[in-house]
Amino acid sequence: MDTSVMSFDLDPKDDPEGFVMVDRPDQTHHQPPTAVESRKSRRCEPPPKLPPPVYLTEISTYIDNLTTSLWPINKTIHDNPELGFDEVIAHETLTAFMETQPGWTVTRSAYGMTTAFVAIYGSGSPVVSFNAEMDALPGIGHACGHNLIATASVAAALATAYILSKHQLPAKVVLFGTPAEEGGGGKIKLLNAGAYTRDHKIDISLIAHPGSVPDAAMVTTTAYVRFRVEYFGREAHAAAEPWKGINALDALITAYNGLSVLRQQTMAGDVIQGHITDGGAAPNIIHAYAAGVFVVRSHSQKRLDELLEKVEACFRAGALATGATLRMTRLGAYRNHVPNRTIAERYARYFNELDPPTRIREDQNEESFASSDQGDVSFAVPSLMPGFAIPTRDGAGPHTPGFAEASGTREAFGRCLRVAKGLAGAAVDVVAVDGVLERVKEDWRRGMRDKEEYNGLGEDVAV
Ligand SMILES: [Zn+2]
Ligand SMILES: [Zn+2]
Repeated sequence: MDTSVMSFDLDPKDDPEGFVMVDRPDQTHHQPPTAVESRKSRRCEPPPKLPPPVYLTEISTYIDNLTTSLWPINKTIHDNPELGFDEVIAHETLTAFMETQPGWTVTRSAYGMTTAFVAIYGSGSPVVSFNAEMDALPGIGHACGHNLIATASVAAALATAYILSKHQLPAKVVLFGTPAEEGGGGKIKLLNAGAYTRDHKIDISLIAHPGSVPDAAMVTTTAYVRFRVEYFGREAHAAAEPWKGINALDALITAYNGLSVLRQQTMAGDVIQGHITDGGAAPNIIHAYAAGVFVVRSHSQKRLDELLEKVEACFRAGALATGATLRMTRLGAYRNHVPNRTIAERYARYFNELDPPTRIREDQNEESFASSDQGDVSFAVPSLMPGFAIPTRDGAGPHTPGFAEASGTREAFGRCLRVAKGLAGAAVDVVAVDGVLERVKEDWRRGMRDKEEYNGLGEDVAV
């Protein structure tokens, strides 16, 4: 993208709107579409059933024995919802607990963020890591269920460490406390600070996300960017001497109309959203200043970059038509999530063997129109972010009060522990099973080389 008029000097946290969701009746946050929408998923015949994974029973029993310790942690975070970068109670609860665990070293308030933390077990390589999200949403509490994400990642990290210790497997486990997923991009700050690659040399990053639709091993999210657009014109008397003015609002309206036309020529999965925040001072003054905030999303970073060029052209057109000066300022951006197929395969093998019986597909890629900073992590290291269903009243989806209520239930807690067992199993297999780590890395290299491969689009809408 030509960035000649786009500056990048604002922190995502500076924008009070935070992370903007696409609300569609048939799409939910971080989750795959309903069965009706699943035509975009690549389904094929079930693979042959493999023998149960080696460490299943040990992991499952260990996590079951953690239930009494983890329930109060999950409940405390849920019942004290905190916004991004202010997750003080969650940070205290999680770090205090991890400090009681033998063999773990905990760094509170890591990398310059009050509520980030790093907990480490073991040394050497490979290095398997888990991200614990913990932020809530304004006014509606834990309506994205991040208390369950934190609980699942803590349980999985501890179970992985237990297996490494018991079987004397040389590897390292890192649990990151990752603040502000809902717009602040805490994981991006950790990435930029070198936490994942330079300092801890992470081989894989694992996390899971609750939803209200069926469980899935591989979930993609959209790449998105949010930016402010400003036009600077010149005042003049709107009746007596309008020809002496430069109308900034006209520039913005011209651009907005250009975007409306562009929307007819976009691809399936492209999203352009926007609102006008400043529309001039008074009708009898030629508007010297107009501004708005816009969001663009697509299934892949590559497609988003292509779309952004077209969007930026619309804003340039507004400036050209009116003589106003254009300024575009990036407010925040998340990359699309690229799930790792080999890790998904290991996860599904464990998950499917647990009770009650279920059968998720390790090779099925489900797409979400939402976005997550785990997407940025997936571009740095191999990543998996399975989706899991929790029971909600009247089918309430994420980012609703009903989902906030559901994420605090014992049933949801039980679901997240099952997911934790799958995550731990995947991590242990990466360490212990010959050839798995190499396949994980090859999958990741292929995903980075051909970023469209995992975007979930069918051939009819191929980018
Ligand atoms: Zn959310
Ligand atoms: Zn979320």
